[in-house]
Amino acid sequence: MEYIDKIGSKYKDKAHQIIEATVQAQWIDGQYVNLRYADLPKSEIETILVDEQKHLCCYCMRRLRIKAETIENKVNGVCLHQNVTLEHVIPNKIKKEQYDEYREHYAQFENLNDSNITVFPGGELKDKGKKLQMPPYPHFFAYENLVASCDGDSDENGGIVNKHCCNEARGADYIYPFFFNRNVKSLVSYGKDGTIICDEPNVDYFRIQLRLMTSSFNNIRRFWYLIEESEYDMNNVDDARADKDLRRDIIDDIDDANTMEWEHYMSDDIWNLMADYSWFYSYYKQKYHSYEKA
Ligand SMILES: [Zn+2]
Repeated sequence: MEYIDKIGSKYKDKAHQIIEATVQAQWIDGQYVNLRYADLPKSEIETILVDEQKHLCCYCMRRLRIKAETIENKVNGVCLHQNVTLEHVIPNKIKKEQYDEYREHYAQFENLNDSNITVFPGGELKDKGKKLQMPPYPHFFAYENLVASCDGDSDENGGIVNKHCCNEARGADYIYPFFFNRNVKSLVSYGKDGTIICDEPNVDYFRIQLRLMTSSFNNIRRFWYLIEESEYDMNNVDDARADKDLRRDIIDDIDDANTMEWEHYMSDDIWNLMADYSWFYSYYKQKYHSYEKA
């Protein structure tokens, strides 16, 4: 995982400008009209968050796309769909009792403390006739409380299943924001077999809350370990999205022991999903760098 720095970010001022302008525009005749999460200019904020996160899902490290992309190939184009969802760390419609229970947990992160955000249970202002002085920002609008996640498409039961992991798996429960912890890289690591390595109390977070410990996710990460060890690189895997012959060559070459059922990965959908996890190429390269490429 990657650390997301909301306090020192160069994107912070721009996000604040957009949010403040929106809040200001909703102040009509001495009260706020329609000031809820639905009124946030999502595409502008989404662009900021995706750039801030280097186009990576805050949970699983999948490549994020704000717009659909088409890759031309010899036969027909490969379409890669838009896959970003916005995620409130403190849930948009959190109940008062829920916030009271977890307030201290959230406040250990500077961006989620009282000087940066105010939590409004239910995602609604308490008093619409009271003008907001920002900061702190209302939690349902706050840049400090928003991150970009993927849409949860996963490789399960032999094909792509929608909304299966990350934000989409989580629901509205309390979730520990690992990505706001400066030490995230030492708290969460990945083995050569693609498994997630973390302390025992955090296993359920990845296994049940985010559903990132399935054998198919392990295989995706293991694939990137094998690529890093091979003569191929990230660009080859990207090129193979539109080139099945190259895809076949890569599969034939990277795993002499044939430890995975590779025919499954020949399908366009599954290959494209796997290719979106190229962050793990750099990760494994940095961690093991056992094979120096010429
Ligand atoms: Zn994800």
